[in-house]
Amino acid sequence: MTATSTDIRTYGHHIGGRSVAGSGEPIDRHGPADGRLVARFADGTADDVAAAVAQARDTFDSGVWSALPGAERSRVLLALAAAIADHRETLALTDAEEVGKPLPLARADVDGAIAHLEYAAALAHEIRGDAYTDLGPDYVGLVLREPVGVAGLITPWNFPSLSLGEKLSYALAAGCSVVLKPSELTSGSALEIAGLAGEAGVPAGVLNVVTGYGATAGQALVESPGVDFVSFTGSTATGQRIAAAAATTVKRVALELGGKGANVVFADADLDDAVDGALFASFFNTGECCVAGSRLLVEEEIADEFVERLVARTERIRLGGPADEGADLGALIHEQHAERVLDLIASGSAEGARLLSGGERLGGEHAAGIFVAPAVFDGVRPEMRLFREEVFGPVMAVTRFGSVEEAIALANDTVYGLGNSVWTKDIDKALRMTRALRSGTVWVNTTIDGPPQMPFGGVKGSGYGRENGRAGLEEYTELKSCVIRSGKRDPSFG
Ligand code: NAD
Repeated sequence: MTATSTDIRTYGHHIGGRSVAGSGEPIDRHGPADGRLVARFADGTADDVAAAVAQARDTFDSGVWSALPGAERSRVLLALAAAIADHRETLALTDAEEVGKPLPLARADVDGAIAHLEYAAALAHEIRGDAYTDLGPDYVGLVLREPVGVAGLITPWNFPSLSLGEKLSYALAAGCSVVLKPSELTSGSALEIAGLAGEAGVPAGVLNVVTGYGATAGQALVESPGVDFVSFTGSTATGQRIAAAAATTVKRVALELGGKGANVVFADADLDDAVDGALFASFFNTGECCVAGSRLLVEEEIADEFVERLVARTERIRLGGPADEGADLGALIHEQHAERVLDLIASGSAEGARLLSGGERLGGEHAAGIFVAPAVFDGVRPEMRLFREEVFGPVMAVTRFGSVEEAIALANDTVYGLGNSVWTKDIDKALRMTRALRSGTVWVNTTIDGPPQMPFGGVKGSGYGRENGRAGLEEYTELKSCVIRSGKRDPSFG
């Protein structure tokens, strides 16, 4: 396989098991690592969404997937996981070129999608409700767990295959039919996976993909009366709009939104591990990561040495595009986003933080792409924009603390609550921090880590609902109570 493709991949929507050409002008996607036109997506309209929802509704109501025994759905999900594994390189290249990330990172995303499908396949055997068997001699209560119906899935651009895996695997395992609206920037892998799903045995019309912009295709999906549930991953501002739009049809939503995680390093930590972890927390996926630990909180007594080591390591980080297998970081997703990242970097210096490394747009061999050198700021205070706003770029903001209480207060001083990390060898401190930090996940002596079994989601401005794990599957279900009497009701009425 070649490290980069030279073809322009052209896609239609995927509706009713086949590719459907879009109407109107296509959406051109230029790879942010080199500016080359890599893909063309259809610009979905409200009519395209309606056609996809009709297919999903028909298949759901017919029971062709929703009424299959879980064991049969499980077999199909395993076949889909195997098909994705067979096409790993192609899918990774699609994601790498559209996102502008090095291929090894994109391969890991595809592997993540496979892992979610395999785990969800196991869960499909285990869908169960509850039974109350001690209500009386002729009286039982059954709690049935049923698929929620048609699920609308809306995904962002930073981990295209992985985000898809975190939603689709559990939706299909639960027995839902799906209409997926991937990011308009990175829709290729979703369409390729939809094709593979058909070959793996997912019946036509159960998985539909409509590409296009959020304000049109996305909004139409959220407002559709034929959609029972929307699972959204993206920015907090969009999540607010989606929750409001879903309210008009009293639709349940799950919102996986932005973050501003703290990575808290105590003086008693293993400092080699903590340095690695701090770099990973801030710069993994070029910082375009909702669970980035972009606020590095370091205990005062080790801060000087710790920051010195961070800067030395940051200066060795290599940036590169899909073909650069040895690169650590890739390009930023688009020019407008880069401008925002550079504006936040400028705000750091203007507000009095000290820029110790990076922070500039790269020219030279990187001039054709959108590359920003990873930045380390020291002396960041809680009132600064760098402490408060999600950067979604390669920027580490260092703040020093003097006590556990201060670390907790600083970490929780954010509107977000997605993931925080703690580095310490003291188990009491680790447990105290875990309980005190207000976020959906707390990592101890690791960061941005976890198998499909672990539920994932946020609190506060980071959203609500959980993906992954058993809880992730249950999001795609409803409970139905069934009360059964075999004798006469007492007292009888009238
Ligand atoms: P975004 O909110 O702009 O877009 C996300 C998706 O929503 C895209 O598919 C987009 O087309 C669609 N969309 C936009 N407006 C819409 C509308 N009005 N109705 C329906 N759909 C609409 O976010 P983004 O720029 O793609 O992603 C970056 C953001 O996503 C960051 O804030 C990041 O923190 C967040 N994110 C969160 C998680 C998580 O799991 N919590 C994971 C990845 C990214």
